[in-house]
Amino acid sequence: MNQKSTQSPAEDIQANLQNVRLGIKLACEKFGRDPDHVALLAVSKTKPVSMIASAIALGQIHFGENYLQDALTKIEEIKNQAKLPKPIWHYIGAIQSNKTRPIAEHFDWVHTVSSHKIAKRLSDQRPSHMPPLNILLQVNIDAEPTKSGVKPEQLLELMRAILQLPGIQLRGLMAIPAPASEFELQRAPFKALGDLKQHCIAKLGSELQGFDQLSMGMTGDLEAAIAEGATWLRIGTAIFGERN
Ligand SMILES: *Cc1c(COP(=O)(O)O)cnc(C)c1O
Repeated sequence: MNQKSTQSPAEDIQANLQNVRLGIKLACEKFGRDPDHVALLAVSKTKPVSMIASAIALGQIHFGENYLQDALTKIEEIKNQAKLPKPIWHYIGAIQSNKTRPIAEHFDWVHTVSSHKIAKRLSDQRPSHMPPLNILLQVNIDAEPTKSGVKPEQLLELMRAILQLPGIQLRGLMAIPAPASEFELQRAPFKALGDLKQHCIAKLGSELQGFDQLSMGMTGDLEAAIAEGATWLRIGTAIFGERN
């Protein structure tokens, strides 16, 4: 949110978080969603540790980061602030195959897996004393040629292969549709992702356990995502302000 206020960033974050939580609550009422099934992932990429600490102190638990080196530094710094509750870290950026180890070691969730190669590396490199890494498969839902993500028609095959991997647990699907300003246009790809999830469940049935998550919706389209079944909203700007 573009705020030209004289408040300190911590006060901004408090007001912003309240607004976002209220927006989620109202959208849940409007579209008949159970608010307990819609979780807020605060996307803190490029934002300083002080802002993350403020959000944690305000009860925010889940944080999403895109840039690995920056994220690892922040995770370490937050860990050293003994007074803060422990947040849960989600990796939501592009994954290079030579960078999978620190992701497997330092994150609880990964939203951007789109190949067997990456999934297998994450599984192999997940430390054995940790629970399986929760992963979501990123789907190129509106088939944009340059966009990352698995193609919908290749999803089932990828899922069958990934289900065999012991170090990860397949939890659902994620998408970043092309930005659209109209509500109905925003809804269409989110509906498509939800339908695809149901299709996967129908096809793979009992092989799937805990495959119940849809990561979709950002600052500009969170209401449409809630309308279509989002369980993770990935919100950056509305909480932490514009990024440079
Ligand atoms: C940056 C980012 C977000 C947050 O976007 P906002 O528009 O700032 O809410 C969500 N998801 C992904 C994958 C991102 O890279």
